[in-house]
Amino acid sequence: MIIVLRPDATEEQVDHIVKKVKGLGLSVHLSEGTERKIIGAIGDESALVTTPLDAFPGVEKVMPIMKPYKLVSREFQKEDSVIDVKGVKIGGKKVQVISGPCSIENQTILLEIAKAVKKSGATILRGGAFKPRTSPYDFQGLGEEGLKYLRHAGDETGLPVVTEIMDPRDIDMICQYADIIQIGARNMQNFRLLKEVGSTKKPVLLKRALSGTIKEFLMSAEYIASQGNRNIILCERGIRTYETATRNTLDLSAIPVLRELSHLPIVVDPSHAVGKWDLVAPMAKAAIAAGADGLMIESHANPEEALCDGGQSLKPKKFDQLMKALSRVAEAVDRDF
Ligand code: PEP
Ligand code: MN
Repeated sequence: MIIVLRPDATEEQVDHIVKKVKGLGLSVHLSEGTERKIIGAIGDESALVTTPLDAFPGVEKVMPIMKPYKLVSREFQKEDSVIDVKGVKIGGKKVQVISGPCSIENQTILLEIAKAVKKSGATILRGGAFKPRTSPYDFQGLGEEGLKYLRHAGDETGLPVVTEIMDPRDIDMICQYADIIQIGARNMQNFRLLKEVGSTKKPVLLKRALSGTIKEFLMSAEYIASQGNRNIILCERGIRTYETATRNTLDLSAIPVLRELSHLPIVVDPSHAVGKWDLVAPMAKAAIAAGADGLMIESHANPEEALCDGGQSLKPKKFDQLMKALSRVAEAVDRDF
């Protein structure tokens, strides 16, 4: 339920409404938009049936939220959310580019690519220390040692860093090093993990599951938001279809659909969607044209030697060329780059 407050509602009136709603066993989420302050009353709404909230002083109107996801819905918040990560704003006018290797391999290799992508205009550094590999015999990531390298490369270049969490037990450790926590596609419905990151204040990059519908995707975002963390970035990274020419199928229509249904920023990862470096550029351009707020692009100075996803990683020179082309696309759709 959304309780829209009158512009002249006093603090006492708001407190009174909040107390009443909490007393009915619902949780209260205040949202201060540019035009209106609203209260989201989330939980079992049947308790509200017998309470005429619209009769309370300070209340303008009371509306149900029709969608199963509440806090992340456009109904709950009309304005786009902008997530501020150390001054890098995701969801604003500027398109942000996250880049870096699939996995952190060592300090030197990471720093080299971090410096290169920063020089080309990337604004956030990525790198996996805990890798969700299909085979248990493939490189699993360096763990905490890798996180130290990532933090170091982030500090050296001034880029905020994002890395994936796979296990709720690692939350405190990862929070020490990362500026954004990534929930990978394979964990989109790991509800325990979602609740765990939801109980922190760290921005979360939530990737769409391989076979996740848009509704399921937003329900997973709702899990995070329901724990109090509303710093959520949605990431479309391709879905599994019958097509095998590409690693996955990039669902470009997810961008305008999510834009309509949710206020959360939308990032697109063309690398994991297509799985081949030469297909990354066209899909990256298409994603910006379709309205993405950011991109996540895998890069590596020496992809032939990469321990993970070398085939889809861009070399610094190709990344630089792509960034130049992307800035023209961004300009065409009235975005800063
Ligand atoms: C990744 O970004 O490193 C990754 C494993 O991606 P996804 O979860 O989308 O497969
Ligand atoms: Mn990868």
